[in-house]
Amino acid sequence: MKYNTVLQNIKTYEAGKPIELVVREFGIAAKDVVKLASNENPIGTSPAVQKAIIANASRAHLYPDDSMFELKNALAEKYLVQEENIIIGAGSDQVLEFISRAVLNENTSVLMSAVTFAMYEIYAKQMGAKIYRTASYEHKYDEFIEAYRMYKPKIIYLCTPNNPTGDATTKETVLEIINAIDKETLIVVDGAYMEYAIAKDETYAITPQDLMDFENVIYLGTFSKAYGLGGMRVGYGIAQPEIIEELYKMRPPFNISTLSLVAAIEACKDEKFVEESICLHKEQIKRYERFAKENGFTYIESYTNFITYLFDESKDSTTIADTLLKRGVIIRNLASYGMNAIRITIGTQKQNDIFFQHFSELIS
Ligand SMILES: *Cc1c(COP(=O)(O)O)cnc(C)c1O
Repeated sequence: MKYNTVLQNIKTYEAGKPIELVVREFGIAAKDVVKLASNENPIGTSPAVQKAIIANASRAHLYPDDSMFELKNALAEKYLVQEENIIIGAGSDQVLEFISRAVLNENTSVLMSAVTFAMYEIYAKQMGAKIYRTASYEHKYDEFIEAYRMYKPKIIYLCTPNNPTGDATTKETVLEIINAIDKETLIVVDGAYMEYAIAKDETYAITPQDLMDFENVIYLGTFSKAYGLGGMRVGYGIAQPEIIEELYKMRPPFNISTLSLVAAIEACKDEKFVEESICLHKEQIKRYERFAKENGFTYIESYTNFITYLFDESKDSTTIADTLLKRGVIIRNLASYGMNAIRITIGTQKQNDIFFQHFSELIS
């Protein structure tokens, strides 16, 4: 069987390891596994959302409302935009896929930072597009503009805050980059962790509103991180109606399940849950910063719900990640990104206690 040649240089995305795998492979009870690998909300799912899901369980035989009227309405209100500015995806991942399919082909290229969300590259490669990266993982104006002038990419990805590094780009720099790019290049501002950046430092706060004047910019958001709905798969893109209309042509019908819609709508009403999550996060991330300082290694200042620890040659991120895994602590090894580093989702107090306990033993 011969497959499309573009598939030859695509590496399958390696998702964060699930709890089930640790249970299966290492015989550790599920309740003892600490998962700090996929930037999920450690508090869990909002009780109000859980209630709504259960209350709607009997509607599972019905196709969902494909107009997604209620969810779009809630998002329009939240972001002060119109429903026609919004497309909903099965995670913002699916919106990324729509974007890629709508504008890329073998004769195009995309530009992104040196270390950023892995799916940008995979979706672009599926379309046969070329990948260009800037020299550093931060989103630097000069690096982006120089590469833009050289390669004229069809898409520029600005991931702020950035995953898997945790740093963010100021609103000022993002707008400077956007203003220096012509309208033939689509700029994707991926705000998957924006709630955390806003809570930390207003100069990094970017809202869809800030970008609505640009005909070639789309903002992406998700319910998977601060809103605690990773398992429901709901994300969104917000842009001028012309972009949304084109992306709609790529969308399969009923791409968001009935119960996922219910969950996301309810989550929009429960901002208190998000505030609580961020409150806990702010407390707990200090412990990770302190731990790094006390143990003499560096970390990247984080604007997200995770932190990236950087190691020198005395430590190996793969050994550390593998050893922690055998002890039932799942974190993310960044070796595949070319970094001797690990990314740890900030957990609950108890989860973090367990992480520090094992990690301390390992590095001493
Ligand atoms: C988690 C994440 C997404 C998308 O997550 P979904 O669950 O598909 O909504 C997008 N971009 C970045 C940078 C992420 O970390």
